[in-house]
Amino acid sequence: MRREVALGLLIVVGVLSMAGAGVQGPPQSGPSAAALEATKIEKVKDNLYSITGSSVANRDAFSGGNTAVFITDTGVVIVDTKLSGWGQVILDRIKTVTNKPITTIINTHTHGDHTGSNEFFGTSVETIVQENTKANMEKMDAFKGDKAKFLPKRTYKDRMSIGGGKDQIELYYFGPGHTNGDTFVVFTALRTMHMGDMFPWKDAPFLDLSNGGTGVELPKTLDKLLKGVKNVDTIIGGHLPVQQWKDLEEYQRFNADLLAAAQAARTAGKSVDEAAASINLTSKYPGYESMRVKAAIQAIYDELSKK
Ligand SMILES: [Zn+2]
Repeated sequence: MRREVALGLLIVVGVLSMAGAGVQGPPQSGPSAAALEATKIEKVKDNLYSITGSSVANRDAFSGGNTAVFITDTGVVIVDTKLSGWGQVILDRIKTVTNKPITTIINTHTHGDHTGSNEFFGTSVETIVQENTKANMEKMDAFKGDKAKFLPKRTYKDRMSIGGGKDQIELYYFGPGHTNGDTFVVFTALRTMHMGDMFPWKDAPFLDLSNGGTGVELPKTLDKLLKGVKNVDTIIGGHLPVQQWKDLEEYQRFNADLLAAAQAARTAGKSVDEAAASINLTSKYPGYESMRVKAAIQAIYDELSKK
């Protein structure tokens, strides 16, 4: 028994270390008090809630990305499942708003802070992801060997419709950005969209090149989203409070400006350090931080030098 527990912890460590540097926190030995406190269920619209997970910057309180909870006539659809070890907390929070069973999980992308507790909900729950995300999940220790049974069984390429009427959900894929498999989940009747780490925070994006992410394509993919999805006013992002459509438009402009500035700096022969020191977007984008700008510039440089 003790050996199994230790082995479980090793697996968690492995998952966290491989799932993308800069996003996941340290391995959890059970939810900390600070993290439990930060994990609240908040009403977004009728029948739609978000279970928060604190900002990534506050590691002590971090439990993973925002989890959407959509209560339909036939059951509960959740979007993203936080880090491993948070399934019971997610379930407990859901039970405060409905007694309906969880029928469906949608993962916005592969990272362990968005897929970590899929396993908790078992194999009878239907899990849906974009097809590239399934391929990325197959590379994760959390879904290898015996655990392959927890891989998503339903995938789509560009677009998928689930349910109808007030329960309708539309899934969209517009191309690579944060990874190469980011899904935009639209709760049509509620004019609300969960977009995972394609809008993670108000700072430079985390570009996961090892899972097909790209800072060159990301602004274009967000532009396709802005043109391709209509009638959405409310946004649930990866790791920030609920936003409005205009905030998403601003985040797209921020990313286009960041890419243009990084490309200009590189053309001018600046090093990544020099580029990071010279690029300041926070005056044009109030409320934005620059903690992740250097890492994003590095990723864009790496990407451009491969072309
Ligand atoms: Zn992510």
